Amino acid sequence: MKCKHSNIIKFINRIEEKIKSEFAKHDDIALHNQSKVLTAFTKNNVSEGHLYGSTGYGYNDMGRNTLDKIYAEIFSAEAAIVRGQFVSGTHAISASLNGLLFSNDEIIFATGMPYDTLHKVVGWTSCSKHTLINKGIKPIVIPLNSSKINLDFLVENINEKTKIVYFQKSMGYTSRSALSNKELGEVYKLLKEINEDIIIFVDNCYGEFVEKTEPCDYGADVIAGSLIKNPGGGLAPWGGYIAGKEKYIDQIMDFAVAPGLGKDMGGTKDILRYFYQGVFIAPSIVKQSIQGSILLAAVMKELGFNVSPSFGEPRFDIIQSITLNKKDLLLSFCESIQSASPIDSLAKPIPGDLPGYDSPVIMAAGTFIQGASIELSADGPVKYPYNVYVQGGLTYEHIKVAIIKVLNQMIEHGLININ
Ligand SMILES: *Cc1c(COP(=O)(O)O)cnc(C)c1O
Repeated sequence: MKCKHSNIIKFINRIEEKIKSEFAKHDDIALHNQSKVLTAFTKNNVSEGHLYGSTGYGYNDMGRNTLDKIYAEIFSAEAAIVRGQFVSGTHAISASLNGLLFSNDEIIFATGMPYDTLHKVVGWTSCSKHTLINKGIKPIVIPLNSSKINLDFLVENINEKTKIVYFQKSMGYTSRSALSNKELGEVYKLLKEINEDIIIFVDNCYGEFVEKTEPCDYGADVIAGSLIKNPGGGLAPWGGYIAGKEKYIDQIMDFAVAPGLGKDMGGTKDILRYFYQGVFIAPSIVKQSIQGSILLAAVMKELGFNVSPSFGEPRFDIIQSITLNKKDLLLSFCESIQSASPIDSLAKPIPGDLPGYDSPVIMAAGTFIQGASIELSADGPVKYPYNVYVQGGLTYEHIKVAIIKVLNQMIEHGLININ
């Protein structure tokens, strides 16, 4: 039997009714974070003049300096830098590591292998002269143990050369769960008891505004992230941020800009309004994307698929993974997300080879900002068990419309049934 569009909507509405209490949790978190962001604005007396930006060296850029203070306040850090000169999150993270690490230092990756783009930065999959390994820095990876940090193995590997212990909050493209700031915070505390000079670094990508807290609330020393994800609110056209202890931020910016120039330079012409407005709406945008993910998780679970996180589980990043089990379902899912995109809806996603992946990857994204994963996007490696990773969405309604399209195409192609 071929189902009608209205049946799909009824099916989804019925599920939506059942998950309202899950939505309420995120309404509450967003309210808290919106208030936190607004307070950071009002405390810093933001005025229209802050939005215009500077040219050339960017000396005395009131808008940039104030935005830095606002980020510091939001992320409970001594200092922060928010820069359009950073391409994205990878650039901000790479600059942080290169700014803090020297020859003979060791860095421990406490949450398993870091996000894919960092593999080249470290030097596992690149022979660039500028990898950490080529600079004489030793990386040590502590694999996770069913989404938990292996504390014994971590502590065993700490010695007098350990400079940074690195944590990644989000699951990235793996099957592990994201980690809560509180759970990570217990580990920071333990590490500080062993040696308070160890730098706790957190890759905060996809984690901003998902909880009421941020990593520095629990004692992280330096965090970094991407402005084309959560904190850019879908408006920032590029950029990255770093926040943390002032001495580390200064040291990183001596590397990222130049010794003697550091964080007091860098023009901002025309970019600041996007950064200000983006972070202002970010708590609400993140909420919409999470509520859309909760609906998606509940719908796909009802259809019999394994989902992670499940709709009732606490969320610590904005990624939703769904195990589709069949290649046709993965392709159909991504095609539907693409066709439900405001940009490039006519494009048909085709699996392609990506460096660092052992199977082709299919990606669907039709975004206003190229590659912005705070906008609705889906991707997955084309291999069993055909997991698809879905993230972002600027409005809840968009995600819901996209879910309707996903089910519609699957039904039309005879891949699923609803009743
Ligand atoms: C996206 C992401 C990065 C890299 O950020 P880009 O903005 O894509 O460079 C790093 N770590 C994690 C966990 C990410 O999700």
